[in-house]
Amino acid sequence: MNYNEFFNVALNQLRDERRYRVFADLERIAGRFPHALWHSPEGTRDVVIWCSNDYLGMAQHPKVIGAMVETATRMGTGAGGTRNIAGTNHPLVELERELADLHGKPAALVFTSGYVSNQTGIATIAKLLPNCLLLSDALNHNSMIEGIRQSGCERVIWRHNDVAHLEELLKAADPKRPKLIAFESLYSMDGDVAPVHAICDLADKYGAMTYCDEVHAVGMYGPRGGGICERDKAMDRVDVLEGTLAKAFGCLGGYIAGSREMIDAVRSYAPGFIFTTALPPAICAATTAAIKHLKSSSWERERHQDRAARVKAVLNAAGLPVMPSDTHIVPVFVGDPEKCKTASDLLLSEHGIYIQPINYPTVPRGAERLRITPSPYHDDALIDGLAEALIDVWERLGLPLGQRALAAE
Ligand code: PMP
Repeated sequence: MNYNEFFNVALNQLRDERRYRVFADLERIAGRFPHALWHSPEGTRDVVIWCSNDYLGMAQHPKVIGAMVETATRMGTGAGGTRNIAGTNHPLVELERELADLHGKPAALVFTSGYVSNQTGIATIAKLLPNCLLLSDALNHNSMIEGIRQSGCERVIWRHNDVAHLEELLKAADPKRPKLIAFESLYSMDGDVAPVHAICDLADKYGAMTYCDEVHAVGMYGPRGGGICERDKAMDRVDVLEGTLAKAFGCLGGYIAGSREMIDAVRSYAPGFIFTTALPPAICAATTAAIKHLKSSSWERERHQDRAARVKAVLNAAGLPVMPSDTHIVPVFVGDPEKCKTASDLLLSEHGIYIQPINYPTVPRGAERLRITPSPYHDDALIDGLAEALIDVWERLGLPLGQRALAAE
């Protein structure tokens, strides 16, 4: 039997649907972000990255790089084991304290990624609640969905951000049954925000626990970078806050924060926490440096919001179909997988602009888009260049352009 045939069938299906992914080989340059080198078969060239989740550019911050280099030099590279077997290094313990403080919670627990923290965190919490009913927002990230599946518990899905629907489902459930409401504070593909207080009101009314993924918000919102829940003064109302160390904090890893008992139970029962090597000390020290910096510096957050607002204004004025977003995410609608991929290819090869196409299953079919994520380091000239490049690509692909307010000025 030729087993590769099976793989080819699956791969060809993706190719037929124009969903086969090609990864750009990028070499980011510390000190020059968002500029990077792109290594392609035709050679190497300078490009501008417009879709990085290193939202605040912290991966190149001198304090963060300094902490990583100093700690690696002093303590070596790997953690040397799982948390239980010699892997609990001091910078990791300090990082967990820093995260608990960031969210105003008694305890926090670090995992090797945000994905793992959701998957093993939700699965373990739900399994430990007898006959738990999981209530999941329809647009929750795959890592939460996988955690829900892994828990084996019954789950119901509430329409995205629709608290009336959530209440219907809560009302229909047995009042004595433990319930876990899982949602995100900021949805990364549309840039919309959850009604956190309304969800917590329902959780109080129906005796449910709340689990909030703040992956696209930590570091970026709230006076100390505690996320949307800090901004909206809801941190103490949400039972489990989950975040990543890999986006605004510029490193790698994920975490949950909450009550001492919940954290201790997940620490003791979660397979995705127990049976894997701990994060290296240098990563932990670098992340702590990023969190500490962002707790006291609001320059990055303010400049980030300013840049996002400017990108939206310039693209809108140019007649590009910017989808409504309340946050730093700037989605530009394409609505066709083929054109979305081609637009991304043209931007990179002809304009030196890198924006990954977002196609199904990340977004529904027909909702394909370019997802633009400005950073504090995208200046006015780069924004104008982005608008010009997008207009050129839109015209070449016959994509609709609205009123050109800029041209009329
Ligand atoms: N939650 C959400 C909403 C995400 O978008 C992602 C990944 N982009 C994750 C969790 C996983 O985080 P990480 O990249 O740290 O694994």
